[in-house]
Amino acid sequence: MKALAFNEHGGLDKLRYQDVPDPAIGPGDVLVRVRACALNHLDLFVREGLPGFKLPMPFWTGCDIAGDVTQVGAAVTNAAMGDRVAVNPNLHCGRCEFCMKGEQSLCVSYGILGEHVQGGLAEYVRVAGDKVLKLPEHVKYEDAAAFILVNMTAWRMLVTQARLRAGEDLLVIGVGGGVSSTAVQIGKLCGARVWVTSSSDDKLERARALGADECINYAKEDWVKVIGQKTGRRGVDVVLENVGAATWKGAIRTVAKGGRIVTCGATSGPIAETDIRLVFWKQLSIIGSTMSSDAEFNTVMGQLFAGRLRPIVDTVMPLKDGVEAQRRLAEGKQFGKIVLTP
Ligand SMILES: [Zn+2]
Repeated sequence: MKALAFNEHGGLDKLRYQDVPDPAIGPGDVLVRVRACALNHLDLFVREGLPGFKLPMPFWTGCDIAGDVTQVGAAVTNAAMGDRVAVNPNLHCGRCEFCMKGEQSLCVSYGILGEHVQGGLAEYVRVAGDKVLKLPEHVKYEDAAAFILVNMTAWRMLVTQARLRAGEDLLVIGVGGGVSSTAVQIGKLCGARVWVTSSSDDKLERARALGADECINYAKEDWVKVIGQKTGRRGVDVVLENVGAATWKGAIRTVAKGGRIVTCGATSGPIAETDIRLVFWKQLSIIGSTMSSDAEFNTVMGQLFAGRLRPIVDTVMPLKDGVEAQRRLAEGKQFGKIVLTP
């Protein structure tokens, strides 16, 4: 089959649309003919190489997958040939204390399909039989693929971890990325007033269309000051952070007393200064979050199926143009997801 694969770690020049061996399935697996696979920053990080990460070569990533079941292992009971499905990318042991509690993303050997094993930037992918979810007729492959990973992540961050409630203020820092842009609509679904920051008026306009109430261009205004002024120095109840070092201090200053900062990333750098006095005096909660449990995956996909949350698609491109697609992502030109179709 064809895949957008690399034979060694490195830059975009290592990536080729090339022939690779077809995946073989075990009795507990299904084979999925990929119809759409969305890109994530993870695809770039894995290609560039992560410390301590040994991958079989050639390797191909791709965590956000929708497609058709074309082979079913003998032990699989919940999927049938021809099913249109979305793929839950959680890889976990099923036996550790966290798996026993249904907390798959805390599994001691947690991994992500398309990061730890070969993924969906290919014509076919092997998936555990219990990790496919049937798509309703009205949901397109491209929309499902664009939706999965960022919504699993943002749903767990806001609903489960930060317990965002109606009437609260939510600040989404650096809107434009997949998690932060969908966080705007999840925030509105929860009944919050949503604040967003970006250096791009275009991205702020897109966020407003998704329901953002207060849009701040941080290239033109000091966002910490603006939020302070507009909230009577109170601040916001919840900050969704994934920028990291560049915005961390501002997040701590901007969050209200008793507020929560929930983070899932550190794209501008992982090491930041925290004034501990502000943490205890304001009685802040700093909460980490990664991916989601299987239950949260099912819940948030249900929101897509019911039309309460929408996929945010930037572009759909053929898989063979995947190098261009990854370049667009690396340059941060997108708003929402870039989807590749094999
Ligand atoms: Zn486990």
